[in-house]
Amino acid sequence: MGILEVKDVNKRFGGLQALGDVNLSVKENTVHAIIGPNGAGKSTLLNCLVGKLMPDTGSVMFAGQSVLGRKPYEINQMGISRVFQTPEIFGDLTVMENMMIPLLAKRDGSFRMHAYESVEDEKDLRGEAETMLTEVKLLDKQDMLGSSMSRGDKRRLEMAMCLIQRPKLLLLDEPTAGMARADTNNTIDLLKEIKEKRDITMCIIEHDMHVVFSLADRITVLAQGTPLVEDTPENIKGHPKVKEAYLGE
Ligand code: ADP
Ligand code: MG
Repeated sequence: MGILEVKDVNKRFGGLQALGDVNLSVKENTVHAIIGPNGAGKSTLLNCLVGKLMPDTGSVMFAGQSVLGRKPYEINQMGISRVFQTPEIFGDLTVMENMMIPLLAKRDGSFRMHAYESVEDEKDLRGEAETMLTEVKLLDKQDMLGSSMSRGDKRRLEMAMCLIQRPKLLLLDEPTAGMARADTNNTIDLLKEIKEKRDITMCIIEHDMHVVFSLADRITVLAQGTPLVEDTPENIKGHPKVKEAYLGE
C-alpha cells in the first residue's frame, strides 16, 4: 500500500476525457515523477489530489483516508502541500511575513488578522521560520519584499512556505519551468537535500528530463489521460513505448 493510492480516476471536461482510468500508487518516502506530453492530464491529476477538481469517478486515498469531497485547506491539514508552476508568494510582504502565513494557516485552518496568541507565541513561530529559512538559504533575505526577489529565490521561498507545514506529501507541478540552468540545478540540490533529511514523499510533474532523472525513484508516463507505463528511471529511459509516445524518437 502506498501513502497515496489513486484508483480508476476519470475526469471529463465536456466532451474531452482529460483522465481515463488513472491508477497510481506512490510509496512513502519516495520521489514519484509524472511525465507526459502537454495536455496529457498531469495538472488535472494533481488538481484532483488537492481538492481543486473533483473526479467524475474513482478514489483518491492518502494515508488511508479519502481526500475526495474535502476542501483544499482540509487536505492541506491532512499533510499534503503543493508547489505551483508559478511561485505563489505575496509580493507586498517580506520573506519573513510570507513564512508566517502557512504557519498560522496550518494551526488555525483559516487566515485571521491577529493570530499570534502572545508575544512568546510570535517569537516561537519566528524561530521556526528562521530555522526553515536557514535550510533554504534565505535567512539573510528575511526582510526583503517578495516582489523584489529573483525567480530562483521566489521558488526557494515558496518551497520553504510548503515545507514549514511539515507535509507528508509534497506535490510539485513543474517546479523548474522557465528557470535558468543554474536555478534549475539549485532546485534539484534543494529537493535532494529535502528528500534525504525529511520523512517526506514527493510527487513531481516535470518536463525537464534532467530534473526527473536526478530525483525520481519511480516514473509514471501519462499519455492522453492514461498511465502508459510505470517503472524505474533506468527502465523508462530505454522503454520503446515511452520513446515513441513521449521522447519522440
Ligand atoms: P498537462 O498538465 O499534462 O499539460 P492538463 O491536465 O492541464 O495537461 O490538461 C489535460 C487536458 O484537459 C487538456 O486537453 C486541457 O486542455 C484540458 N483541460 C484542463 N483543464 C481544463 C478545464 N478546466 N476545462 C476544460 N478543459 C480543461
Ligand atoms: Mg500542466
